[in-house]
Amino acid sequence: MTENVKSQLIIILDTNPVWWGQKPSSHSKAQQKMTLTECLNSVMVFAHSHIMMNHSNKLAILAAHSDQSVFLYPKNEASNPGMSEENGTTEGNDGKYELFTQVDKQIKEGIQSLIDNCMNGQLYPDSLIAGAMTMALCYINKTEKSHEESGIISSRILVIKGSEDNTEQYMNLMNAVFTAQKQNVVIDACILDNDSGLLQQACDITGGIYLKIPQMKGLLQYLLWVFLPDPLERSKLTLPPKVQVDYRAACFCHRNLIDIGYVCSVCLSIFCAFSPICGTCQTTFKIFGPPKGVKKKSKKPL
Ligand SMILES: [Zn+2]
Ligand SMILES: [Zn+2]
Repeated sequence: MTENVKSQLIIILDTNPVWWGQKPSSHSKAQQKMTLTECLNSVMVFAHSHIMMNHSNKLAILAAHSDQSVFLYPKNEASNPGMSEENGTTEGNDGKYELFTQVDKQIKEGIQSLIDNCMNGQLYPDSLIAGAMTMALCYINKTEKSHEESGIISSRILVIKGSEDNTEQYMNLMNAVFTAQKQNVVIDACILDNDSGLLQQACDITGGIYLKIPQMKGLLQYLLWVFLPDPLERSKLTLPPKVQVDYRAACFCHRNLIDIGYVCSVCLSIFCAFSPICGTCQTTFKIFGPPKGVKKKSKKPL
């Protein structure tokens, strides 16, 4: 065990109501689909395990919903940033570690209010993963700064996701991923259903683990075996082999994933079709015929 290193875990849970609401029969595979409640129970046990690993370990949980991303724990993150600092060590009336009760209560209440609110709004089949990741990175930046003197913090983000990717988020997500790489934040992904090309890239770039779990019902086991160990200790373990990463980029014009495209030589924007003016930096390209200066020179008799 590495001494004096606190491990901070930020869990981003996909709570997309469209995906969670789908009937199991609509799934291509015969595997049983778990309910959001079952998933939450697994995530809570996993969160407890992380806190139990070391008394100074830190935890935060975010929900990536279809129309918003919110902190489930610590609650009121923006208004009361000091709350997460106080890991209570007292026992509750039922003999349960007080902090666990607090974590569970806040997660359940947070999910409940998310579900209540989304009844009135519009539903989308994708979740705001990029937004949640950005919030997580801001939170990590803040906590790491406030702990600078009391020891090193190793931070990581775990995304638990079932819904489809939305290539509209490509740019925002990639910006978040490169920020994470710069901050030495590892991004892990535990995929419940639809493979995610964007998260494959995120995990590969930051040195995290991307795993599409073979059996949804076994979520807790995968969480505890694969995602509980801190990245610093993973080299000692035999973990699932790396996946083939889908490194396609999304074009800046339609946000479609493309294999071959046009890249602006000035700003490196990617386009699926040729355009004489770059849509991002407005550079005009002259590609028809050789440059004029060369033509004139060749006409001159030597
Ligand atoms: Zn395009
Ligand atoms: Zn350009």
